[in-house]
Amino acid sequence: MERLDSLVLEKAMTLALEQAPKKKESEIVTLDRALGRVLAKDLAAVKNLPAFDNSAMDGFAFRHEDAGKRLKIISTIFAGDRPKPRLKRGEGYRIMTGAPVPSDADTVVPIEKCSEVTEETVTLPDGVKAGENLRRRGEELRIGAPLLKAGTRLDAPEIALLSAQGIMAVSVYAPLRIAVLSTGNELREPWETADEEQIYNANAFGILALLESYGFAAEYHGRIPDDRGATEAMIAGLKGYDVILTSGGISMGEADHLYRAFLFHGLKPLFHGINVKPGRPTMMGVMGGCFVMAMPGNPLATMLNVEMLSIPVLRSMQGMKAIGHRRALARMGEDLKLRGGRSEIVLGHLHDGRFFPTRGNRYGSGMLTPLAESDAVVIFDEASRGASEGEIVEVKLLGDPGSL
Ligand code: AMP
Ligand code: MG
Repeated sequence: MERLDSLVLEKAMTLALEQAPKKKESEIVTLDRALGRVLAKDLAAVKNLPAFDNSAMDGFAFRHEDAGKRLKIISTIFAGDRPKPRLKRGEGYRIMTGAPVPSDADTVVPIEKCSEVTEETVTLPDGVKAGENLRRRGEELRIGAPLLKAGTRLDAPEIALLSAQGIMAVSVYAPLRIAVLSTGNELREPWETADEEQIYNANAFGILALLESYGFAAEYHGRIPDDRGATEAMIAGLKGYDVILTSGGISMGEADHLYRAFLFHGLKPLFHGINVKPGRPTMMGVMGGCFVMAMPGNPLATMLNVEMLSIPVLRSMQGMKAIGHRRALARMGEDLKLRGGRSEIVLGHLHDGRFFPTRGNRYGSGMLTPLAESDAVVIFDEASRGASEGEIVEVKLLGDPGSL
């Protein structure tokens, strides 16, 4: 069988990121439909933020030269008012948060810092700085300044910002079309009855859920039996997808037909096999306009590889600029020994700045329970023999923390 040399993890990732075709089509969506979508065009500010000088506090607006004096209050300004400047010496306005500050006042103090407050007069404190508590027109953003860049994923803060600009529709990349497949004669779906020798399909639904948690809607296309003809026929029907994501059937066993079937359909493989534990039998390649990600069959290896390898690649294909997992430095919570000679993605959990390898890093790639106990990984390279308690390591956090 034709086979590429096993690659180091980093190289596999680089190749996939270089070769996976990026989504070009875009569409216009209104803000209520924009959550999780990726901006297709740079946007500039169309309104100053704030749009007018306004008060950051409930209090009094006055000329700075009157600080420390007793002030006559000539009117009250509320948010939404349009007051005209009309202050004389020794006069000021009572003002509410967000209300416009007329051009003849330059400073605001909150009411709790003032004394002898009556309806008509107030004594201002000393030591007030000029311009305090005044939010100046355009101090956050000026018209024409960069607002959001193409490649930004729209999460709640971005949606709030667009709303504040009065921008109600944006151009975003069309969603990737992703087909998910399982392979294996032994598989039964969770709603079917499995006998002792059959296993339930964990990968398909785990992968679909993982993709969805990262904002990708994938379609499940069912199981392929371990049969060359059936595998080729199934692939033929999926060429219109941007991504085909399979699990199982990609090792060197006699029932592993996927690789040849993809080659038959014109696949140009980038790698077939990664020198990593878990997840060695992983293949990625380009098949026409379609990117193929063939993941291992073992559930833990599949889920972890989709999370660590597929997700960044899918994000890049979807046009996102920030594609990696969030990282943090932590101290090892206990000693960890590795045999070396291959990368290891070590599952663990982060607690008070310390990383604890799940079950002392003793578990199998066919399991699922260790994954449910973990919220982070540390990736060790081929040269590493582990780390001792207290040593600082770079931790990658599992799950989608939102965009940055
Ligand atoms: P394979 O690479 O096809 O030989 O699969 C490796 C191991 O993963 C075998 O024990 C399979 O039964 C198991 N496996 C493959 N696909 C799935 C799946 N969708 N859900 C759960 N286990 C699977
Ligand atoms: Mg199989």
